[in-house]
Amino acid sequence: MKTQVAPSLLPAGVPPLPPIPDEEARLAALNRYRILDTLPEGVYDDVVDLARALCGTPQAVLTFIDEQRQWFKAAVGLDGEGTDRRIAFCDVAIRTPKTVTVVEDASQHARFRHYPQVTGPDHLRFYAGAPLVTPDGHALGTVCVVDTQPRSLSDAQARQLQSLARLVVQLLEARRRELDSQRQLAERELHQRELMRYQRELESKNTELAEEARRDALTGLLNRGGLSQAARASTAREGDAFTVAVLDLDHFKRINDTLGHAAGDEVIRVAAEEIQRGVRGSDVAARYGGEEFLLLMPATTLDSGVAVVERIRAAIAARADLPAPVTLSAGLAAGLAGRDTPDSLFQRADQALYLAKRRGRDRVEVIDD
Ligand code: GH3
Ligand code: MG
Ligand code: MG
Repeated sequence: MKTQVAPSLLPAGVPPLPPIPDEEARLAALNRYRILDTLPEGVYDDVVDLARALCGTPQAVLTFIDEQRQWFKAAVGLDGEGTDRRIAFCDVAIRTPKTVTVVEDASQHARFRHYPQVTGPDHLRFYAGAPLVTPDGHALGTVCVVDTQPRSLSDAQARQLQSLARLVVQLLEARRRELDSQRQLAERELHQRELMRYQRELESKNTELAEEARRDALTGLLNRGGLSQAARASTAREGDAFTVAVLDLDHFKRINDTLGHAAGDEVIRVAAEEIQRGVRGSDVAARYGGEEFLLLMPATTLDSGVAVVERIRAAIAARADLPAPVTLSAGLAAGLAGRDTPDSLFQRADQALYLAKRRGRDRVEVIDD
């Protein structure tokens, strides 16, 4: 709890203290130590305990002078977290950073005899404060000792009080170094995490782009590049039957010629939709050319391949929402993984397609083994 002091508590006769010339820099230095409003710490409690023992007083305090208040980091023999700055003895003491301010009897002191700690029940009489001076010369507060009786301070005690004040500054410096390195570490970790996130984003963008590059923009089916990649990645076991089908829309040129290229595109898109719907998960469907599609069906016999393609043919023929009715012809060939390559089967399937076209279109033909 901070002691709130109304200005009236200091009589009109008490002149304000002269301003500290580099007060702004002093406050900035104080804030750099990040000590204000921290929790009690044993090492600072030890310092005030030592100060009290050295000087033989009932009270000792480690104070910091903030903009409007003095704040107690550690105190023995008195309670409270601090006081208003206007009634702080230590605010006077820090104005002479090099010397210990000693007030033997505050009730006789021109200024301090008006302070409420002196006039009031605290009955403060003796004060000695050694300023905490930073390496760059700012006095942040004091190590001070207080008594309710007048007393004096020997030269040795004054020197020892100053030693304690120097020790506190060493502690503050070490503390700041520690906090700084913790902060740097945290910043580095944050930076590292951001880098990793960025990298993951890039990787997923890359995967996305690679995926896009494998696909045909109009139909979303694999393009030729995607098809060869899929064929290479196929994990068919040697000796497994596999079937290749080539599908080609019939008289497609007419659709383009009569209804226009956009209508042609729409027909291709719908045909692809039915092809994608008709194949199974392990099958690979690709748009091989303009209105030509290719199916790679692993672990599939010729008969079941024909069944798949027949279903697709029927489904496209049944689509009533097309700009113009369209049929397709298809050729299939089957082989054995390890013995036949997709390429050789493709050649045979293409011959079968040629057959289907010759035999009147809208049909599925095969070339037997
Ligand atoms: P067939 O029954 O013998 O297969 O006759 P067809 O007219 O379908 O075959 P042809 O190879 O003579 O014509 C295919 C046409 O497909 C020629 C080309 O202009 C057109 N085409 C190729 N790619 C596209 C495309 O992406 N969009 C559109 N709208 N037309 C395309
Ligand atoms: Mg065609
Ligand atoms: Mg064609």
